[in-house]
Amino acid sequence: MFFYTNAIFSLTKGYLFAITTYTNKLMKRYSLFIILFLLLISACGIFKRNYTLEYDKIPMTRGVNTCQELEDTVVLYAVFVDVAIYNPWTEFDIAQTMDSIKYATKWIEDKAKKMNKVLVIKPVFHEQGTKDSFDEKRARVTLRLNGLLAKSNYSYRRMGPWADAVAKYAGRGIKYRSSSKVGKRLKINNVQTLNQALRDKLEIDDVAIMFFVNGYYENHPSYSFFTQYAGTKKAEYSIVTDKNPAVIAHEFLHLFGAVDLYPHNSFPNFNFKEIKENYDNEIMLVQHRDIEDLMISPITSYFIGWQDTLDKANTRLLLHKKLLPVY
Ligand SMILES: [Zn+2]
Repeated sequence: MFFYTNAIFSLTKGYLFAITTYTNKLMKRYSLFIILFLLLISACGIFKRNYTLEYDKIPMTRGVNTCQELEDTVVLYAVFVDVAIYNPWTEFDIAQTMDSIKYATKWIEDKAKKMNKVLVIKPVFHEQGTKDSFDEKRARVTLRLNGLLAKSNYSYRRMGPWADAVAKYAGRGIKYRSSSKVGKRLKINNVQTLNQALRDKLEIDDVAIMFFVNGYYENHPSYSFFTQYAGTKKAEYSIVTDKNPAVIAHEFLHLFGAVDLYPHNSFPNFNFKEIKENYDNEIMLVQHRDIEDLMISPITSYFIGWQDTLDKANTRLLLHKKLLPVY
């Protein structure tokens, strides 16, 4: 074994020597070009720097997709779905979760009031037939979840088709007003068309669809999708596994543009350490706490559109690795 390794080592040495000699020859011949090339690259760097250090490095989540303004009247549309991986919904569980939803929305309304915003969040509970929940089997899908699925792209691939199928089934329970123009033509086959139908039926521009599954005892994460700019007007939605008002408020705020402020890979420019030091009890940073102990920081307030600009100190927290443009 020893000899074998040694042989490979001397062989590698031989190759390295050959490569170095060859590189040296090239360097001598083309040194002027290389110097000029390097100068050009650094000049471009200086040139570029003036233009790239802009706000566009802050994620684009404000006023995008269908849930645009967290102001005036908005709807939280709750769909309770029985899934195979969790217990089916009982009347008691649903009643408790409904209370939590009302508690969470009241908490957000109070925070809006403090920012001089008029906000009414209307919780609307989906009913189909005589029941408050329906089985995912009716939509012919099975939700697969586990605590390790933290990457949103991967989660979406797994949960997107589930949500679309469930939305399609829920769409059968939506009754249009007879005067509805959209409703007569609209075929509900995914979350987006369900959202469109609901906006038409409820006559409200901003409808936040949240699918609730009874996973309270499993301690699995909840998810929100299409919360950033999605190219077209994709409908945002959440799949909520918890009945803690803080979790519900956290996911609901995502749908209106709030971003996660706990350390994660999606926003490498965020200074998570300082964000935590400044806003330890931020709703987008911690969820598994009593909602009454939590707050909405200027950062979240900016993302959900309650303030038009973000001051320099907070902007700096979001552009950790970039210098700020002069303004
Ligand atoms: Zn989150």
